[in-house]
Amino acid sequence: MLFKKNADESKDNTKHNIENIFKAIRESAAVDGLKNVFEKGKTKVLALIAHEKVADKAKKVKAGTMYAVSSGMIVFFVVCGILGSNLTIGYRVVADGEVVGVVSQKEDAQLACEKAVETLKVIKGTEEPISEVKVELTLANQDMVQDEKEVETTLVAAFDDRLDGYGIYVDGSLVVALSTEAQAKEALELYKLEFVNENTEKDTVAFNKNVEVKSVKVKADFMKNQEDALAALKAPKDEVIKHVIAEGDTFYSLAEKYNTTMEKLMAYNPDVKPELLQNGQEIFVTETTPLLQVQTKERLKATEPFDYETEKVDDPDAYVGVSVVTTEGVPGEKEVEYEIIKENGIEVSKIAIAETVVKEPVTAVVRVGTKERPSTASTGTFATPYNGIVTSRFGSRWGSTHTGIDLAGATGSPVVAADGGTVISAGWAGGYGKLIKIRHDNGYETYYAHLSSINVSVGQKVAKREFIGRVGNTGNSTGPHLHFEIRKNGTPLNPANYMN
Ligand SMILES: [Zn+2]
Repeated sequence: MLFKKNADESKDNTKHNIENIFKAIRESAAVDGLKNVFEKGKTKVLALIAHEKVADKAKKVKAGTMYAVSSGMIVFFVVCGILGSNLTIGYRVVADGEVVGVVSQKEDAQLACEKAVETLKVIKGTEEPISEVKVELTLANQDMVQDEKEVETTLVAAFDDRLDGYGIYVDGSLVVALSTEAQAKEALELYKLEFVNENTEKDTVAFNKNVEVKSVKVKADFMKNQEDALAALKAPKDEVIKHVIAEGDTFYSLAEKYNTTMEKLMAYNPDVKPELLQNGQEIFVTETTPLLQVQTKERLKATEPFDYETEKVDDPDAYVGVSVVTTEGVPGEKEVEYEIIKENGIEVSKIAIAETVVKEPVTAVVRVGTKERPSTASTGTFATPYNGIVTSRFGSRWGSTHTGIDLAGATGSPVVAADGGTVISAGWAGGYGKLIKIRHDNGYETYYAHLSSINVSVGQKVAKREFIGRVGNTGNSTGPHLHFEIRKNGTPLNPANYMN
């Protein structure tokens, strides 16, 4: 119905349109041959009939009417079809024999082709992504005419041999692609799980870099299974280079050879001792840190001892410098909760976040002397009382024991107290001749014998190195000398071990 009506109503325009159509057919014929054009025109009309929902007419045509009419009639149908159905002249893009789309302007068709080919060159990595692409004049229903961009998109899509997948991007860079989003996400979860243990805070497991899963088109060989995807994520950023140790190799020579530093070599090979390199041993000479690492936070509790405090108590009865522990300190115990941050299982930080004392320590108490030390107080060490020549040492002599040391020199030479103390004896004492005894602290006494003169008296307090008498030859003596003794609780000690 529509078919006929339109033809009747548009008689005035018909003539003009027919001329245009035949012009187009003539142009097209130069390429395809007239018969082909007619065949295509016929197909268009049939399509059009169906499109315009003149189903009855179409059935008749299909039933054979069409096949009986002359070629002139076909042209008539073509013309009528064009007139009645907004058929228009356009330019179709044909790539490798397939019609991709139709645009109204030849320049647009050419531009769409050029742009699509450029895109496909990049995608496919080849200079000739489509073996043949051409632009041809055609007749088309106006509904079928597309814009340049649509045709370009269709053309790219038709020859894009990449696969649709889901890429794992690390800091914005595509590392691997898997065929489904679920697989990509599961690969990442599997990687995380490798470093999760019973101490790990599950909700803190994260990657050390920004990771995204996005849909992506990739070449088939870039598509990985989960196992290979994991390997790619764990691989170092750069190619790992190993060096096999040969005679004479050292970390120093390797650092020079591979343009790195000894510190870096040690970091790349934490288990290797640089001084124990062996021939044939493999050494990493490049970065081995994985591209992507899993950061985990662990909570760990540990019981640890901690120091006791020391309380100092003034003791006015003890001299300055004297301190006595009256209560021994005992360390306490605490339970410490640590937060440990690891990267791929290797600890990078450990912070104590909570502490609980489980056993209180015992504070040590020390009494510290505050009494000013008088010059006559004992120091506990002994000075040489007279700097004479040692003529007889302490110990066995002539079948008996020499209880001191003999220091020979000129009669009248001054003798000083070996340490501070109190004179407890000053006078003649048989074989000792003129003798001074001084009592010091802690059971010590010193004897000064054979003196020619005594310049102190009993009860007098003397300071260390204070003048007390003079060298002589009194008593059982064979020449002027000082016989000097140090005794502790009455027992003679070897003065040579104490004098300084
Ligand atoms: Zn002697």
